Amino acid sequence: MPDSAPASARTPRVRFAPSPTGFLHVGSARTFIFNWLYARHNHGTMVLRLDDTDVERNTDASVQSIFEGLRWLGLDWDEEYKQSERLALHRRQAEAIFAKGLAYRDFTPAHADSGEQSSAQGAWLFNPGMRELSREESDRRAAAGEPFALRYRVPRGQGRTLSFTDGVYGEQSKLADEVEDFALLRSDGMPTYHLASCADDADLRITHIIRGQDHLTNTFKHLLIFEGLGVQPPQFAHLPLLVAPDGAKLSKRRHGPVVSVTTYRDAGFLPRAFINFLCLLGWSPKDDREFMALDEIRSAFTLENVNRSNAVVNFTEEDPFDPKAVWLNAEHIRALAVAELSPSLAPFFEQAGFHPLPEKLLAVTPLIRERIKLLGEAPAAADFFFLPQLAPYDPVELIPSKGGDAAMALRVLQHAQEVLATTPFDHDSLDQALRAAASHLGLKAGQAFQPIRVAVCGRKNAPPLFETMAVLGRELCLARIRQAEECLQSLG
Ligand code: GLU
Repeated sequence: MPDSAPASARTPRVRFAPSPTGFLHVGSARTFIFNWLYARHNHGTMVLRLDDTDVERNTDASVQSIFEGLRWLGLDWDEEYKQSERLALHRRQAEAIFAKGLAYRDFTPAHADSGEQSSAQGAWLFNPGMRELSREESDRRAAAGEPFALRYRVPRGQGRTLSFTDGVYGEQSKLADEVEDFALLRSDGMPTYHLASCADDADLRITHIIRGQDHLTNTFKHLLIFEGLGVQPPQFAHLPLLVAPDGAKLSKRRHGPVVSVTTYRDAGFLPRAFINFLCLLGWSPKDDREFMALDEIRSAFTLENVNRSNAVVNFTEEDPFDPKAVWLNAEHIRALAVAELSPSLAPFFEQAGFHPLPEKLLAVTPLIRERIKLLGEAPAAADFFFLPQLAPYDPVELIPSKGGDAAMALRVLQHAQEVLATTPFDHDSLDQALRAAASHLGLKAGQAFQPIRVAVCGRKNAPPLFETMAVLGRELCLARIRQAEECLQSLG
C-alpha cells in the first residue's frame, strides 16, 4: 500500500515515544502496552522512539529506567530510534515548512524560548509584529545573527476548522483562530516536541498515534504540521487518563513511587498480571472477563473497546496497590507452571537473605503458590524451609486447639518421633503413618497434626503438612520435633 493511502488502510506502524525525564510511569507503561497490543493484533510494526530532545530534563538514569521497565514487561518492539539523533531531519522539515511560507521567525526575546504563553488579556495567540515581518527584514535580522524561534503561521481570519476523528474520543474540532502560533524551533535551534514528534511520525510512516488523553488538544497543532509537511496525518487514538482515588491525575510529583512500574516489580507482581491490570484501566473485552492471559488480551484488543472515562487506580496511604491488581496477581501466580514460577521467586528469597538451591525452591514453590498474592510475600510464607533454626514461637501453639493439653501434645510429639524414625519421607507414607499414629493415640487427625505442624513449621498457618515434611526431610523434622518437646516440657 503506498504511503499516500489513508493511514487507516496501511499496515499499522505504531510508536511508543517516552520522554526520559523520570522513571517509567504506569501510565506510560499502559500506553506502551496498548500500542503493542494494537500492533500485534493487527500484524503491524511496533516502534520505540525516545523523545529525548529536551537536554535539560533528560537523564541517562531515566533512559535506563525506561528500558529496565520495558524489559521487565517482556514485550518486544521492532524498531528503535532516538530523537536526539534525528535533529538534522527535524530542522530540514522545519525549513521546508518555512520555505512554504507556513512558518515565520519570531525575534521577540520574551517569547523566543517557549511555545505557549498567555497574557493578562487572555490566551496569547501570536505577536503581530513578528507574524507580519517582511521576508527581507526577517532574512536580514537572521543573517545578522539575531536569535529567533520559528513559529507556525496558524491560518487566521479564514474561519478554518481543524478536525479529526479520534479512535476513542470521536469527532474533535477546533477553530484554527483559537490555536496560537506555536513554536517549531526554539531560539537555540532545538526542535519543539510538536515539530520533532510530527517530523518523526511522518518520516517513520507512523499510521496510528495511540497516546495519553493529555495530548488530545495538541493534535490540532499536529494536524497543521502534517499539513505543512504535505503528508496525510496518522489516525489518532487517545487513552483515558489514569487518576488517583481522589480524581487527581496520577503523577510522579503528587503520588510518588506508586506510579512507578518498578514499584510493582519490586513488590512481586508478575509482568503478566501487571499487564492484565493495566489493560483493564481504560479497556475491557466487554464480556466480563478480567483475568486474562496476554494472548487472550491480544486477540480481544480493539481501540473501539477503549473507554473515554478516566480510569481510577485505587491505592491508599497504607496499601500502595489496587486490590484488583493484587487479586489478578494471585490468580496469575496460581495459573503459572511451577517451573516458571519458581525462578521468579528466587530473587525475592535472595533479597530476604535466603539462598535456596533451585531444586529446593522448585519443591517449595507448589506448597506456597496458593498462599501468596505477591511474589515478595514468598520468603515470609516459606522461611521455615530454609532457616536452619526456627524463630522462637509460643509453645502454647503446640497444644491442639480442640480440647487438647500439654500432655496430649507431648504424647503426640513423642510418638511421632518413633514413627518418623522409620517412615519413608514421601507424601503417601507420611500421610498413612501419621494418621495411623493419631488413631493409635486415640486422637483425631486434626488434633494430632497440630503439634507436629507447629513443631516443624513454627506456626499453625502453614502449607499442607505431609508435602512440607517431605521437603524438609527426616533429620530436620525430627530435630524440630525434639526441640518442640523440650519447649513443652519447659512449660511445666
Ligand atoms: N514524548 C511524549 C510524551 O512522553 C510523547 C507524546 C506522543 O506520543 O506524541 O508525552
